[in-house]
Amino acid sequence: MEKVEFECRKCAKTVSVEQRKISPFCPACGTLLNVKAQPKHWLFQFNPSIYKWFDRIQNTREPEQWLISQHFQLIHKDDLVAIWSSGQKAGIYALGKIITNPKQSLLNLGQEKYFLEEYDIGKFQEKYSAYVEYFKICLEKPLLKEECNKDTVLSNMQILTNSLGTNFRLTFEEWVRIQTLIGN
Ligand SMILES: [Zn+2]
Repeated sequence: MEKVEFECRKCAKTVSVEQRKISPFCPACGTLLNVKAQPKHWLFQFNPSIYKWFDRIQNTREPEQWLISQHFQLIHKDDLVAIWSSGQKAGIYALGKIITNPKQSLLNLGQEKYFLEEYDIGKFQEKYSAYVEYFKICLEKPLLKEECNKDTVLSNMQILTNSLGTNFRLTFEEWVRIQTLIGN
């Protein structure tokens, strides 16, 4: 059963139901508490002819900074994400967890060299970004687009019908199916 908790959207403090009965405000900073959001599921897309994701993942498994161009009000720390490559071998190559809330922040220096154009690095100046930590990387056996197209659940994924963008919503059902097919 899902445990109901409350959270402070300002300082991220988590508060129990009992504590919330005592006061509807955050004990740390005084902000009005909200019901804690359940983790959501996303698909983040990169284009290998713009960003050398495959080179980076060979070099490091450190958390990766992702541009949040869409849904920045809905994407939160602890949400789960499937990583999609566009291009000739399109498909899902990793699963991860978002470990920071989206905020405006320059691209970290370690990642700069994997972008082919200065223009794309500049996007981090004006947009939100968040870090993703990978818990599953499947470079050898990705879940390819062709397989998704044939699957009764995954064939409805937004990325397959309208692939413009970076951040796409996945349904819970789609997420579970991806995990099953990737063999997690
Ligand atoms: Zn607070």
